[in-house]
Amino acid sequence: MHLQKEPSFRESVDLMFNRAVALMDLAPGLEEKIRVCNATYTVRFGVRLRGEIRTFTGYRSVHSEHMEPVKGGIRFATGVNQDEVEALAALMTYKCALVEAPFGGSKGGLCIDPREYEEHELELITRRFAYELAKRDMIHPAQNVPAPDMGTGEREMAWIADQYQRMNTTDINGKACVTGKPLNAGGIAGRVEATGRGVQYALREFFRHPDDVAKANLTGSLDGKRVIVQGLGNVGYHAAKFLSEEDGSIITGIIERDGGLFSDTGLDVEEVRQWIMKHGGVKGYPNGQYVEDGAVLLEEDCDILVPAALEGVINLSNADRVKAPLIIEAANGPVTAGADDILRKKGCVIIPDMYANAGGVTVSYFEWVKNLSHIRFGRMQRRQEEARHQLVVDELEKLSSSMGNTWTLDGKFKERYLRGADELELVRSGLDDTMRVAYQAMSKIWHERDDVDDLRTAAYLVSIDKVASSYRAKGL
Ligand code: NAD
Repeated sequence: MHLQKEPSFRESVDLMFNRAVALMDLAPGLEEKIRVCNATYTVRFGVRLRGEIRTFTGYRSVHSEHMEPVKGGIRFATGVNQDEVEALAALMTYKCALVEAPFGGSKGGLCIDPREYEEHELELITRRFAYELAKRDMIHPAQNVPAPDMGTGEREMAWIADQYQRMNTTDINGKACVTGKPLNAGGIAGRVEATGRGVQYALREFFRHPDDVAKANLTGSLDGKRVIVQGLGNVGYHAAKFLSEEDGSIITGIIERDGGLFSDTGLDVEEVRQWIMKHGGVKGYPNGQYVEDGAVLLEEDCDILVPAALEGVINLSNADRVKAPLIIEAANGPVTAGADDILRKKGCVIIPDMYANAGGVTVSYFEWVKNLSHIRFGRMQRRQEEARHQLVVDELEKLSSSMGNTWTLDGKFKERYLRGADELELVRSGLDDTMRVAYQAMSKIWHERDDVDDLRTAAYLVSIDKVASSYRAKGL
């Protein structure tokens, strides 16, 4: 049955949760304990800007503390509201459980259009918001660790980390109070690209399962697949760039705030990104067809649709016109519960947000561990690894010479084999492994249970089970 009225984002997440939990056998009351949001803090603070005091409204919501610290991004956007941060915090709980990042779920947001402010003004606002949260332990290495989200990035995370450290000068683990920091301020290699990279790894893993690919009425690999991406920000840009440059996918559509671009032969992601940075939007870009109403491209023919901007963009009003056989939810909540019903019935396969965009929190987890251990990944092992590999190569070359050099080691092979892994390689390896393992857990349920006909329900089953186990272990 199609839902008549579009639910709110929060209600949408709850509806999807309820659909999954109905298939589980949870102790009475535990289901509600997991579903509800533990607390949401609303703060209104003033900042003196341009000769007047401006008041801003921000939120930090904690959905579940079955593991601590709780984790989740901070969003800067005009549409931020309590319902939205609570929905996003709930998704963080399920996401962390699914990819085994040892955190509870949280999310924050500030109602602001960051493009309206100068950098020094944004710094004042961000620091004040961070102060308000930190003094209530809502930014804290052991209790609540934010990260970037829409409208925020490395710069804001550096300000937040510095603000926390000014307020807690003797906290030796202070840097671990927030993730997504620049490398020179305690960040980790590969965090900026992590969510988009995770989308790429998720798709690669999906295409390693021919039965799953067949369920989407597709065949083959990512090579040559036509992809439409909505939102060329942090997540969408990296996902589109990697898919086109490394996997042979063709980016036929890009949708941004001011319209969409289309090209049958493929758009150059890097070139479009540079155009947006220079001109503020996609309009006027010469090497593609421009449409003012970008949302129509969500309904265009393609193999893979990647909504990577905002929630609720595929909803009751357009779901039945969406033609993509495979949707990967790079953004949080891009498909409403009602649209999900319609698409599932049409046979569309949806790789759900809580899995698809988990690359960000996965690498944030690595960053947090790096901050707590106060050492860069690979620093102790890299040269030792290289030395051991050198031993093997030397031995093989000795052998080759004793056989009259009838064979030699390929120079490229030697170079690659001899190089010890640096932090970036280790981060990518950890992320790849995480995305594969989590996909396999979902896919197994999707195949084995007759009452589960989609990946989202499978994802919820995996993660709710883990959250429930944590609560049980605590004696709840
Ligand atoms: P971002 O601010 O870097 O990028 C968002 C992009 O979407 C921008 O280019 C913006 O212009 C565009 N956009 C905004 N409104 C649009 C509209 N109506 N139509 C088309 N495009 C529009 O944000 P981001 O960090 O890439 O986040 C995008 C989504 O991914 C969000 O749902 C966020 O919660 C989710 N996410 C982000 C991360 C992360 O690490 N940054 C991690 C997990 C999930």
